[in-house]
Amino acid sequence: MKSLKMNNEENLENISNEISLCTKCALCKSAIQAVPGSGNPNTKIVFIGEAPGFYEDQLGLSFVGRSGKLLDFLLGQIKLNRNDVWIGNIIKHRPPENRDPSPEEIKICKSFLTRQLDVINPKIIITLGRFSMNYFLPDAVISKAHGKTHQVGRFVIYPLYHPAAGLRNPNMKLQLIEDFLKIPDIIEMTNLI
Ligand code: SF4
Repeated sequence: MKSLKMNNEENLENISNEISLCTKCALCKSAIQAVPGSGNPNTKIVFIGEAPGFYEDQLGLSFVGRSGKLLDFLLGQIKLNRNDVWIGNIIKHRPPENRDPSPEEIKICKSFLTRQLDVINPKIIITLGRFSMNYFLPDAVISKAHGKTHQVGRFVIYPLYHPAAGLRNPNMKLQLIEDFLKIPDIIEMTNLI
């Protein structure tokens, strides 16, 4: 019998293959390639951003530009790295010129993330930015909801500002660091270690 570990890997790989072939919305036409998400398929901690940007589109990987470097730095501050977590986006193809994804595009793409989360079955979902926060907490306002935990069904949702916002605004970067440093306590609270 195959191990659960192998099943998660294989199931995520199958979803990634479907995403790569998806033409359900027009974003696949302007993007170079899909960015399905990557990381540890058996983790209990996932990070969800909005949509691929320029470098993600070039390489097919989540958070690889300057925002990705900041995310790596922040993970290092709490003694984690990308192999400990899974990182994805709610939208899998880059919107042209990094524009915001439309509500219709989010609705069409939604089933892929739902299926990925069903496979991984994380306990903590850390959202990066307003769009991914509103995916799980439709009425939340990021200036109030960031840095606090919100129970949504079986998930603990922990909203953070997007690293790109931290790169644009030094005060937001400080806030992002402060919120990030609370993650080990949340992990402990949810009995993940
Ligand atoms: S963004 Fe989502 S729904 Fe649109 S083509 Fe890509 S995978 Fe399909």
